[in-house]
Amino acid sequence: MTQQIALATQNKGKIAEFQRLLAEHTSSVEVLGLAEFPDMPDVDETGTTFAENSLLKARAVSAFTGLPALADDSGLCIDFLGGAPGIYSARYAGSHGNDGANIAKVLAELQNEEQRSAHFICVVAMTFPVGHKNHGTEIIQEGKLQGSIVQQPRGTAGFGYDPIFCPDGYELTLGEFGPGEKDRISHRGKALRAIAPQISGLLS
Ligand code: IMP
Repeated sequence: MTQQIALATQNKGKIAEFQRLLAEHTSSVEVLGLAEFPDMPDVDETGTTFAENSLLKARAVSAFTGLPALADDSGLCIDFLGGAPGIYSARYAGSHGNDGANIAKVLAELQNEEQRSAHFICVVAMTFPVGHKNHGTEIIQEGKLQGSIVQQPRGTAGFGYDPIFCPDGYELTLGEFGPGEKDRISHRGKALRAIAPQISGLLS
């Protein structure tokens, strides 16, 4: 029997990515995004860590939908900036999700700076609703991608800070990666591949 799980996002690309990676471990899971639950209120991301924010989102979505719920929280941490933008990555330049402004702010802050090392981090959490046999169990996994910030944006693939992030061992920015290539090395791919077997065990 196909089991449904709710994913705390409206982003269709993210839903497809989660569905694809979970399918490597279990064929009987259907991932539903928040578009299927239009009355779900926004969750305030009041946590101070990626883990707290992903758990807050997963708990809220499993409580609202009555389904096992998955959430992720991710961001870019730059060593020279003491780990910023970190949990504020999406709204670093002020308004939420303004990728161009966020990139411009980071490049200005690193102007003439040689120390450009950085990593992406993704924390994925899963929680279960009241009444589910696993209610009370909460699982969490983290993935990291180490790299550095280039001088100028390159490439149009991906989203967010991809055009200015060059993974260690590569010449290309993530913005220049081909489709699917990023999944193999990304922080999100690593976190999902770590949690997928646990999810499949808990749903069986
Ligand atoms: P969220 O976890 O989806 O809210 O993402 C937080 C923010 O971190 C995004 O809006 C991006 O600015 C940044 N970010 C997270 N993952 C990536 C990535 O894979 N590439 C580029 N930017 C990312």
